[in-house]
Amino acid sequence: MSDDWKPSTKAVHTGTRRSQYGEVSEAIFLTQGFVYDSAEHAEQRFINSGDDEFIYARYGNPTVKMFEERIAALEGFEDAFATASGMAAVSGALTSMLKAGDHVVSARALFGSCLYVLEDILSRYGVEITFVDGTDLGAWEAAIRDDTKAVFFESISNPTLEVIDIEAVSKLARAKGALVLIDNVFATPVYSRAAEQGADVVIYSATKHIDGQGRTLGGVILGSREFIRKTVEPYMKHTGGSMSPFTAWVMLKGLETMSLRVRAQTATALAVAQALEGNDALEQTIYPGLASHPQHALVQAQMGAGGTVLALDIKDGKEAAFRFLNAVQIGLISNNLGDAKTIMTHPATTTHQRLPDAQKASLGITPGLVRISIGLEDCDDLIADFLQALRATK
Ligand SMILES: *Cc1c(COP(=O)(O)O)cnc(C)c1O
Repeated sequence: MSDDWKPSTKAVHTGTRRSQYGEVSEAIFLTQGFVYDSAEHAEQRFINSGDDEFIYARYGNPTVKMFEERIAALEGFEDAFATASGMAAVSGALTSMLKAGDHVVSARALFGSCLYVLEDILSRYGVEITFVDGTDLGAWEAAIRDDTKAVFFESISNPTLEVIDIEAVSKLARAKGALVLIDNVFATPVYSRAAEQGADVVIYSATKHIDGQGRTLGGVILGSREFIRKTVEPYMKHTGGSMSPFTAWVMLKGLETMSLRVRAQTATALAVAQALEGNDALEQTIYPGLASHPQHALVQAQMGAGGTVLALDIKDGKEAAFRFLNAVQIGLISNNLGDAKTIMTHPATTTHQRLPDAQKASLGITPGLVRISIGLEDCDDLIADFLQALRATK
């Protein structure tokens, strides 16, 4: 029966494990270990733990399990492994399945730390990476080889908001037997249909919309039971990137309200993008939900909405972008996204500072680019504030 529930019902009920007290709100099992009745019982647990049996919090914990079951049900995957951060999820998913000599094809436009994992770490261990323009299906087709082990991309790239065709890239990868791993942060679990569109593995930084209130770092890897329990779990439980029970509790409570938050933030993001598009202080307003976005039709088919993040390319580069950031009164200058508070980031000098200028240019990270994650504030207040800040850039 619970398999037939709609997402909003699953988001508040799936995975709940009640103690003997019958608490309504999920309990935080803030325990690192679990007691055995006898030496024989301990031996048995280490051979084969049952569904509700735990050994050590790095291996699993009841509160963490509740979060894993709930997000897996929402996302339509058999199983999930919760991690200490989004990057523990990205690096864990890739490292657990790859070995020296393997070939990976990845989109070039990636979150800075994802790029570091692929370019600096995996290549150091002998994994060969080919980077492609993620929006160019011909480039994917040319790069995926018979021996390609995996393809990796962000379904909407950070911070330039390129949308990648999950179904088409998955089909190309499948044809060569490569696994499809997607960092799906910008799509959010609310709009994701990645499982049915062909993804084998979906990864979230739960720090973003799942918490949604800027409190905790977390991540999750979703996939088949086989992949999660045979490939990911042994790697994560022995290398130490597991989620803490307290974090899992924050994330569980976050899932209960995520759909309401994300839909409201997305509606405001669209209204803000429409209000700012064409403003004479702007080179460009980038938002997948705008008809002017090059992958507008794709994002509508793939997700049904443009998401909670937009980007403004402000005329006259860095100085004007800084004047804008300093003039905004409601939005905060910080670098999280998906938060209840509107947050603005200047990628060229912060999250993507490390990249050489030529690479920034090829990724579209211009000196005037400002990424804005829309929060839960009043839409008209935000629009009025952004308009006055754009006037202040001149
Ligand atoms: C934030 C983010 C990450 C990393 O997540 P953390 O929780 O900060 O470790 C990875 N990928 C994308 C697309 C992100 O936005």
